[in-house]
Amino acid sequence: MATDLFYKTIAELGCLLETKAISSAELTQAVIARTKAVDGKIKAFNSFDEADALAQAGASDRRRAAGDARGILDGIPIGLKDVISAAGQPLTASSRMLANFVSPYDATVTARLKGAGAVIWGRLNCDEFAMGSSTENSAFGPTANPWDFSRVPGGSSGGSSAALAAGEAIATLGSDTGGSIRQPAALCGVLGLKPTYGLVSRYGLIAFASSLDQIGPLTRTAEDAAIMLGAIAGHDPLDSTSFKTDLPDYRAEATTRRGPWRLGIPKEYFGAGLDPEVNAAVEQAIAFYRGHGCEIKEVSLPHTQYCLDTYYIIATAEASSNLARYDGIRYGHRSKDATDALDIYFKSRAEGFGAEVKRRIILGTYVLSSGYYDAFYLRAQKVRTLIRQDFLNAYKEVDALLTPTSPMPAFKIGEKSDPLALYLCDIYTIGVNLAGLPALSVPCGFTGGGLPIGLQLIGRPFDEANLLAMAHTYEQAHGWSRRCPVL
Ligand code: GLN
Repeated sequence: MATDLFYKTIAELGCLLETKAISSAELTQAVIARTKAVDGKIKAFNSFDEADALAQAGASDRRRAAGDARGILDGIPIGLKDVISAAGQPLTASSRMLANFVSPYDATVTARLKGAGAVIWGRLNCDEFAMGSSTENSAFGPTANPWDFSRVPGGSSGGSSAALAAGEAIATLGSDTGGSIRQPAALCGVLGLKPTYGLVSRYGLIAFASSLDQIGPLTRTAEDAAIMLGAIAGHDPLDSTSFKTDLPDYRAEATTRRGPWRLGIPKEYFGAGLDPEVNAAVEQAIAFYRGHGCEIKEVSLPHTQYCLDTYYIIATAEASSNLARYDGIRYGHRSKDATDALDIYFKSRAEGFGAEVKRRIILGTYVLSSGYYDAFYLRAQKVRTLIRQDFLNAYKEVDALLTPTSPMPAFKIGEKSDPLALYLCDIYTIGVNLAGLPALSVPCGFTGGGLPIGLQLIGRPFDEANLLAMAHTYEQAHGWSRRCPVL
C-alpha cells in the first residue's frame, strides 16, 4: 500500500488536513509534482493551471487557519473531465471544434465542489465529445493506462480514470452516457459511480445524449465516492431533468450499512465474449457476497440483446441534435476558407469534428429523418421502456445486480479499429443508462498479466447508498482498491 500523499484517499487526507498534519498547499504541490513526473507518459491531462491550483490551495489553508474549513473536501485536488465547465478554464471536449474555448461559467457540479472547498485541478482527456470507450478518439491523442502504457485506460472518461490511478489527482469527475465512468474505472483499477439519472445536475456538462448523460465521481474507495456524491448530488433549478428528492448522508450510510442484501446475477451478462479471467474474478466476488450472508439468485433481463442497438439509435439521435450548435458562428472552430454562411457551417464542421463524431451525427440524423423516424427512433424508445421494465421486474426479487463491468481488461492502444468492436465494450454498462439506474464499478482483482478487473453493482433508482455500502463491504475484505501501479 502506497504511503505517498498523492495516493491517499479523501477520507485519509481529510483527517490529515483537519489535524493540520499537512496543508492543502503541500498536498496540491505533491499532486502537481506527481503529474509533472508521470503525465508525459500517461497524457491524462489536456491542460492544467498550476498557479491557479496553488492559489485555491492557499485559500483553503487560510480558511482552515481561520477556523472556517468547509468540510472534508476542503483543500483536496479534484480533476475534471474536459466536458465539465469550470469558469475561466479551457473546455475542449477533446475536440478541435473547441480547441480554444474557455468556459464562461461553472457547471453546477464545479460550483458545488468549489463551495465545498475543493481545489479544482486540471482538465482531463476523454474521447471527443465523450464518444468512445478507449480515449483514442481524442483530438489531443490517446491517454495511456497507468498499469500498462501500451494499453488504453478505457473511455470515454479515460483521463479521469488514468489520472486517478497514477496519483495525478485525489478524485476526479467523469460523465457516463453508456458506461464512460464505469468502464474506464474498471480498466484502471479505481471505483467509478454513475448516479441515477436526475440525481446530479447536468448544467454545464457538454451534452452528448441528454436523456442518458450523468456526471459522477471516480475515486479510490466507496467512502470517497460517497463523499463526492454528497457534494455534487441534489436538485438544481438550472437542470430541468434534475430530481427533487431527499438525500441520505451517503458517507454515513456507505460505511455503516452491512446488508445482507439480496443480489441478482443476470444470466444474459455471463455469455459469449466474456474474458475468462474477468469471469473468474467476478465469480469470486459473488462468492464473497454469498459468504457475507447475501442471498444470491439468478435473474433474467430478457431484452439485454437489444441494448446496444437501442443505445446507438437513441444516443446518436440526441447527439446529432445536441451537436448542431457547433456551427462555426457562435463559438468553436470557424474555417478560414469559408466564403459564405453555408460554407462556414460545412467547412467548420468538416474540419472541427473527428471521424467518430461525424459517424454518429450522420447515423443520428438518419434515424430521425422522416420515413425512418418511426422505424428506428420511435421503436427504440419503446424498446427502451421494455429494457427499463426488465430491471424493475428483477428488483421485485433482489436489491441489486452483480455483473462484470467490462467484458475484457484493458486492450492495446490501436487494437480495436472497427467501431463495432469498440461499441461492444459497453455491452454490460449501457442497459443501466437506458434504464436511468445507478451503478458503480469496484475493483475486484487482476489478470495474470497484472491488469485490473471491475465488478459492476447495479441498483434501484436513487439507491446509491446501498450500492456504496455493498462496495465498501467488499473493499473491507479485499485489498484490490489500494493497489497502485508502479510507474
Ligand atoms: N462508449 C459509449 C459510446 O461511445 C459510451 C460513452 C459514454 O458513456 N460517454 O457511446
